Amino acid sequence: MPIIADRMSAIKPSPTMAVTAKAGELKAQGVDIIGLGAGEPDFDTPDHIKEAGKAAIDAGKTKYTPTNGIPELRQAVVDKFKRENDLTYDVSQVHIGVGGKQVLFNAIMATLNAGDEVIIPAPYWVSYPDMVLIAGGKPVFVECTEDEQFKLSPEKLEATITDKTKWLILNSPSNPTGAAYTADDLQAVADVLLKHPQVWVMTDDMYEHLVYDDFEFKTIAQVEPNLFDRTLTINGVSKAFAMTGWRMGYACGPLDLIKAMNNIQSQSASHTSSMTQYACLEALNGPLDFLPERNAVYKERRDIVVEMLNQAEGINCLTPEGAFYVYPSIAGCIGKTSKGGKKIATDSDFVTALLEEEAVASVQGEAFGLSPHFRISYATSTDALKEACTRIQLFCANLT
Ligand code: PLP
Repeated sequence: MPIIADRMSAIKPSPTMAVTAKAGELKAQGVDIIGLGAGEPDFDTPDHIKEAGKAAIDAGKTKYTPTNGIPELRQAVVDKFKRENDLTYDVSQVHIGVGGKQVLFNAIMATLNAGDEVIIPAPYWVSYPDMVLIAGGKPVFVECTEDEQFKLSPEKLEATITDKTKWLILNSPSNPTGAAYTADDLQAVADVLLKHPQVWVMTDDMYEHLVYDDFEFKTIAQVEPNLFDRTLTINGVSKAFAMTGWRMGYACGPLDLIKAMNNIQSQSASHTSSMTQYACLEALNGPLDFLPERNAVYKERRDIVVEMLNQAEGINCLTPEGAFYVYPSIAGCIGKTSKGGKKIATDSDFVTALLEEEAVASVQGEAFGLSPHFRISYATSTDALKEACTRIQLFCANLT
């Protein structure tokens, strides 16, 4: 009898791993690789938040906490949703997990029966489909093209909903495209959902604070209060607060759902670390004055990258509203051959040849469910970005 469970056969290892491994190999050989693959801010956690974490350790806050977090942190989450999103929750409706990733996982595990369908607009964050598969559900993809600014149209949503649809996952601003939904975009999606009361919405708002050019962030339950009772609003500290390693994410939603998510967590991780919770208390209640400065840097980098990529032959790059990614099309490069003799038939070929020949690491669009594209994270130094884009231009100019 095999030791590995049947459910594992549906799950693939992280698709970004092959490129990361190859980049690591080349780096070890002394090649000057520029890594644009990581979905992680290059900024540090702000000092006042670090201090709160340190103080918690010194004060002996090093023991178990309630599964759903210390009461002060739950209250801080309630206050954040009220203050920033005009959403009113009770503290009992707060779930706190080990990163946004675990919150999503808990929600999916707590709700899917075998064969339940989850609509995932593509391109998508790589973990959504595999989480659905682990839970025995069925991911249903809807391609949202560059012409649609990578956003789900009401027509496509309507055509994808079936009796088995349990969730729609929304992610705005998006990883991997940076595209963000306006209030009008969300209303159009909501109008379809109002006709299908069996469909719930899981909105992943991890990049809420990383928006540029005066884009006004909105979340779906705020735009359409009639969806409030079937929306799980997920957020976290990893991206805006540069706290990826602290591991904390949170969500609010209907009480039964939150209780089920808490139950799953009580039988797995128990809770996120106690000192992390105190640092997050400071993140949520403390000043956000570090953000405009950081966002100005991100915006400058975004503009440089978009401009330089659009100068590369065969590449077309939209200007995204938020996050720290761009998702350029390489349709104009497909069918060509690189300087090193590699035939570019897919975006994986493109990314591999770019790494081998120009030492730039990025991620193929295939990993995110929409080709031919590739993802670049611009959460890295401006100089490195300029150099990487120059190398990409050279790579494209040498395609024949
Ligand atoms: N959701 C999206 C869209 C992400 O890009 C990420 C991280 O890359 C997460 C969730 C998970 O974040 P965390 O590090 O808090 O688990």
